[in-house]
Amino acid sequence: MSKKILVPIDISEMELTKQVIPHVENYAKLDDATIHFLAVIPDYTYFASYGLGYASIAPDAREREAAALETLSDIIAKFKIPDDRIEKHVLSGTPKDHILGLAEDIDADVIILASHRPSMSTYLLGSNAAAVVRHARCSVLVVR
Ligand code: ADP
Repeated sequence: MSKKILVPIDISEMELTKQVIPHVENYAKLDDATIHFLAVIPDYTYFASYGLGYASIAPDAREREAAALETLSDIIAKFKIPDDRIEKHVLSGTPKDHILGLAEDIDADVIILASHRPSMSTYLLGSNAAAVVRHARCSVLVVR
């Protein structure tokens, strides 16, 4: 069976994605791997934990997911991977939980993600990346 690679994408942060592109392209070449891209729309409780009042300005969930899928598709277009090897997922909730959940659901062989936002330079590993490294059952490639 061909390999499954999970690539969670923070669609609000293009710098992170640029870092992972060459690594994902290399893994995709290894065999007929399928690349599962996942964008998670953080839910209200997640934003609230940062003390931001996003909920009041958020349009309804379906609209947000459609918009996120469009942005994710634009980002994926930057990867040189054949269309028939790409799966797209958009979910709402807590990024780390959905990354770990989807990895189990698709039985991922490896998760590839960036370590943290460049602006958060005090952390070597962002909170989502840290949780994925700690709890994933499969291998995780953290790109720095
Ligand atoms: P930081 O806290 O600096 O943003 P994170 O741990 O959140 O660091 O981000 C590291 C990686 O986690 C990202 O490169 C991405 O792969 C993944 N990630 C973070 N947020 C999301 C999200 N909303 N949807 C999908 N993946 C995400």
